[in-house]
Amino acid sequence: MTVDTVIIGGGIAGLSLASELAERRGSGAGITMVEAEAALAHHTSSRSAQQLIPSYGPEPVLELTRLTIPDLVAPAHAAPSPLAWHSPFVVTGSPADVAAETVPVLRTLSSEELFEYCPELAENPDRYRAAVIDDSAVRTDATALVEWHRQRAEQAGVRIITRAKITAARPTGDGAWVLTVGNNELKARTVVNAAGAWADHVAKFFAAAPQHLQPRRRTAALVSLSEPLGPTHPMVEDAASGWYYRPDGDGAMISWGEAEPSPACDAQPHPLAIDELIETVQRETAMRVTGVRKAWTGLRTETPSDVPVCGWDTQADNLLWLVGQGGYGFQTSSALARAATDVLVDGRIGDWLSAESAAALRPQPVTG
Ligand SMILES: Cc1cc2nc3c(=O)[nH]c(=O)nc-3n(C[C@H](O)[C@H](O)[C@H](O)COP(=O)(O)OP(=O)(O)OC[C@H]3O[C@@H](n4cnc5c(N)ncnc54)[C@H](O)[C@@H]3O)c2cc1C
Repeated sequence: MTVDTVIIGGGIAGLSLASELAERRGSGAGITMVEAEAALAHHTSSRSAQQLIPSYGPEPVLELTRLTIPDLVAPAHAAPSPLAWHSPFVVTGSPADVAAETVPVLRTLSSEELFEYCPELAENPDRYRAAVIDDSAVRTDATALVEWHRQRAEQAGVRIITRAKITAARPTGDGAWVLTVGNNELKARTVVNAAGAWADHVAKFFAAAPQHLQPRRRTAALVSLSEPLGPTHPMVEDAASGWYYRPDGDGAMISWGEAEPSPACDAQPHPLAIDELIETVQRETAMRVTGVRKAWTGLRTETPSDVPVCGWDTQADNLLWLVGQGGYGFQTSSALARAATDVLVDGRIGDWLSAESAAALRPQPVTG
């Protein structure tokens, strides 16, 4: 079978590109997405904290986040349920630890304000002496967002194939690629590498320039609480050690906030990680955990600069990278999909993104 564009990877990166590209072209005909797993978003995209924080990340990420949030809070295409809504983000700890995290958009909170927002911290006033809040932060529903992109893409005619792992590729000599998918072959004029933690591995099939991606583990859990935090409670990060929590229905999502290097794999929590996290939460706050509903580990895949990669490979023909979203894959998703679509359709990212950010997204050439 011959198609125009194959997108490798059915996480938020590949799916948001599929829906955006189909819309820009006026049709999804000729676009195929291949996902190795039986379900879309099986890996990192179903394991996130679902928060969009405009003060979090290096400058290009901040710009991509500012551009993504309005698209998700007020989507141009109707969604069956809200995709994103206002949900502030608080960083708290000692004055020195909080100062180390502070960027200009963050507003300082007095102790009275902090304990009003977060009464569960009031019994530990010596630890939580300073706090800042990002009032512009937003919570997203990752499941709804992934499904919204899938529906838009498929309704436009994009073909999505699951249980379809790309295991090899060979050039045709005229700039196109023949991809091996199980016992089948798929010929494509253009290929997009949106394979998350596996992207450098996939790049080897194309003899492309590696982007030195590093997957990093992060473990989290959904827990039941004796007292709900309340739906308007902010997400809270402990500035000293990085663990964080936020309300989730009548329970909470809690995470270590760690960034432990890992090979690309289906990551699982280390034994005792969740018990120790619950112990920390209960020691430092008045929250009382009554049960664990779900626990998981996901891989945040970072580039050396912590800025995602979006652009043509410097050595393989017609191979576009859309990778390295680290801890920002949801908060940058719409803007990165638009940037990737610009490159595929117009050959360059449009002027809606600053020249500095557009340059920072370019894939690195081979070094050494
Ligand atoms: C605990 C945690 C908290 C996070 N919190 C946030 C947050 O609050 N906000 C935020 O913006 N981001 C957050 N992130 C990061 C965010 O989840 C990621 O940046 C994003 O999900 C990456 O999406 P992706 O599509 O690149 O990767 P993935 O979702 O991993 O998708 C890549 C897909 O490629 C497929 N694939 C790989 N190789 C092949 C192949 N050979 N053939 C076919 N398919 C292949 C894989 O099966 C996979 O499904 C968090 C991450 C974690 C782990």
